[in-house]
Amino acid sequence: MGDRVDVEQHRADVAELLAGLSDRAEEEMSVQRGVLGRVLARDVVAPGPLPRFRNSQMDGFAVRAADVAVAGPGAPVTLPVAGDVAAAPGEPAPLEPGTAVRIMTGAPVPDGADAVIPVEDTDHVTFNESSGDLAATVEIARGRAAGEFVREPGSDVAAGDVVLRAGTVLAPHHVAAAAACGISRLAVLVPVSVAVVSTGSELVPPDGEPGPGQIWDANGPALVAAVQVAGGRVDLRLTVPDDPEVVRATLERAAALCDLVLTTGGVSQGAYEVVKDALPEVTFRSVAMQPGGPQGFGRIGGTPVLAFPGNPVSAQVSFVVFLRDVLRRAGGLPPVEQVPAVLDGAVGSPAGKRQLLRGRWVRHDGAAARVAVVGGPGSHLVASMAAADVLIDVPSAATTLEPGAEVTTWPL
Ligand code: AMP
Ligand code: MG
Repeated sequence: MGDRVDVEQHRADVAELLAGLSDRAEEEMSVQRGVLGRVLARDVVAPGPLPRFRNSQMDGFAVRAADVAVAGPGAPVTLPVAGDVAAAPGEPAPLEPGTAVRIMTGAPVPDGADAVIPVEDTDHVTFNESSGDLAATVEIARGRAAGEFVREPGSDVAAGDVVLRAGTVLAPHHVAAAAACGISRLAVLVPVSVAVVSTGSELVPPDGEPGPGQIWDANGPALVAAVQVAGGRVDLRLTVPDDPEVVRATLERAAALCDLVLTTGGVSQGAYEVVKDALPEVTFRSVAMQPGGPQGFGRIGGTPVLAFPGNPVSAQVSFVVFLRDVLRRAGGLPPVEQVPAVLDGAVGSPAGKRQLLRGRWVRHDGAAARVAVVGGPGSHLVASMAAADVLIDVPSAATTLEPGAEVTTWPL
């Protein structure tokens, strides 16, 4: 208890504590439900080719290219229309040489046909799919080479090809490819299971009615959201009063249920520092940063626990600086890149402490991105933080930064 470290040291210690979380199990999920944003656990291999069968790329007429080779402007070739094939179940009859078959986009191209003449190149330019009436003949104004407007089986993907790579963060276009291949279930990484425990006898839930001296619990909901955005899953969410025995019992239960326990409050230098009192096996230290100085880290019965400070800005900044990327990496997500920017105004900062100010983009276009401080440094200023886009990282050595100074920002 009581050591004082810099931000990088605590980041490294937290990363080491949580290294074991990277061993993710996998689970199967339906492509129709809940896979968005999940991380693919293994390569997805196409069980068959795509397209599945030779089909038309156009609404038009399936022909033998040789039959219409001489068609040109002012010299159309006229063919009898032998039938109609839609994108519908069934196999079309083979095409007789010297005839054409009306065909719709995606419909199977009959055996014997090797090209599709787009409807625009015929006298059926106004063909009305709903009428169902077929003219007896079609005039073709332009020939096409064999293969034109015919989609060959496997031209998108061949059987056995990798369609999606392990590690892909699933988005709608990945779902489309899997579904098109007839893959209904995907193996995804099981998210890190997190318990979020707010401590404080003054706290009431967001839907509660605060009495005198009470406040709404902001950290619980904030950390639930933060964990979710970082790819984790909150399996336990509790608020406990400042009673060390209750806190101890709650955290033991949380540690038995989840991969990681997060607490807020009860870690600073005052009286009633309940998390400190309840967890003698955990290291509590002061990190040279503002906000978010008091931090705890360790294990309860083998399960890692991080104890964040109670002030809402401190709790959120702690998450961003110490946990966000570790959690993302553990779940297979890329870290959030820091962004260089230029300060829009002057900034004063305490010596010897790295400051993470809330910042708002004034201009956000690459190298010349400009950022301005929003709100004050107070770690209770939740509404100011809500107006911020980033945290502005002011190095610990700096006491003042002039307008135009280059800074690093952490996107929120
Ligand atoms: P503590 O570290 O428990 O002394 O908390 C520091 C400050 O943050 C106190 O003013 C608390 O009331 C406030 N606080 C603690 N936990 C929360 C919370 N979950 N939501 C909002 N404010 C909190
Ligand atoms: Mg408290």
